[in-house]
Amino acid sequence: HAKLEGKNQYAFYNEHMKVSTHNLVKGEQDLALALEREEFEVYFQPQFNLKTDEVFAAEALVRWNHPEKGLVFPNDFIPLAESTGKIVALGHWVLENSIAYLAQRKLENRPDISIHINLASAQLSDVHFVSLVEALLDKYQVPAHLVGFEVTETSILADIPLARSLLQRLKDMGICLSIDDFGTGYSSLSQLKNLPVTMLKIDRSFIMELESNQDDRKIVEAIIAMAHKLNIKVLAEGIETRTQWQLLEAFQCDFGQGYYVSKPVTATAFNQGTPLLHPS
Ligand code: C2E
Ligand code: MG
Ligand code: MG
Ligand code: MG
Repeated sequence: HAKLEGKNQYAFYNEHMKVSTHNLVKGEQDLALALEREEFEVYFQPQFNLKTDEVFAAEALVRWNHPEKGLVFPNDFIPLAESTGKIVALGHWVLENSIAYLAQRKLENRPDISIHINLASAQLSDVHFVSLVEALLDKYQVPAHLVGFEVTETSILADIPLARSLLQRLKDMGICLSIDDFGTGYSSLSQLKNLPVTMLKIDRSFIMELESNQDDRKIVEAIIAMAHKLNIKVLAEGIETRTQWQLLEAFQCDFGQGYYVSKPVTATAFNQGTPLLHPS
């Protein structure tokens, strides 16, 4: 009886797996083809200094210009890229494009800004990652201090010793390191003090209700105060209103980014200065 049950189960899982493996393989092929055909595009969202209102950096956010589906956002393909391992090639492509963009800006005598690039955990555990970054900076003659990486708490906590040595090597090169979506993971500031981190990005979920939610307000103020004591800068992400912007400025938050000032835009739009218009 047990044998029969096992057999049925086997048949069920087998069939189920066939379907999902098929989808995965198709997805992987789609991503590989899209990389080959250069269907991806890096958008840039400006990051502002809340004291001076100046743009000091931009976050690189990848989009897929899909021939049939149109503009596809990262939440619809990054998970697939991660599960198929294609994220390493895609991440490399984003990195090279972002560094090439910095080189282009230099050529056109545009003011220096940094580009902050999101890293997936597979890139953090790639033994070739540091030499890849060095090679690209050398190829495009871009100084390391203009490049920053954003990593999530979760991807670092998976292997703290490994992450620490990788992040330390990047920091020694002069690269800025931010913790993305801060507050949503399980890390504490005491764990972070042992990591070579330059900036915390407070997750949008704490900013959304800043005007009405006293708890969020206290949490945000506490994060800012503690980070500053540890010599870490703070950026608030997902600022959508003037009030949120002003509150964060009053809380001594260093930097901000969000739809209130600018959505992510194409390199062309970014160059035209569209996002440099501060509405306040
Ligand atoms: P993230 O790094 O936390 O990026 C912030 C996301 O919030 C972006 O979504 C951005 O467009 C959006 N956002 C910015 N300001 C606001 C706002 O005021 N309101 C709202 N509602 N949203 C705002 P996006 O571009 O769709 O990216 C989603 C996530 O995909 C990113 O979250 C990041 O985790 C991942 N991602 C994007 N590009 C890359 C990449 O090149 N590599 C990797 N590994 N992940 C990437
Ligand atoms: Mg201001
Ligand atoms: Mg990010
Ligand atoms: Mg984030």
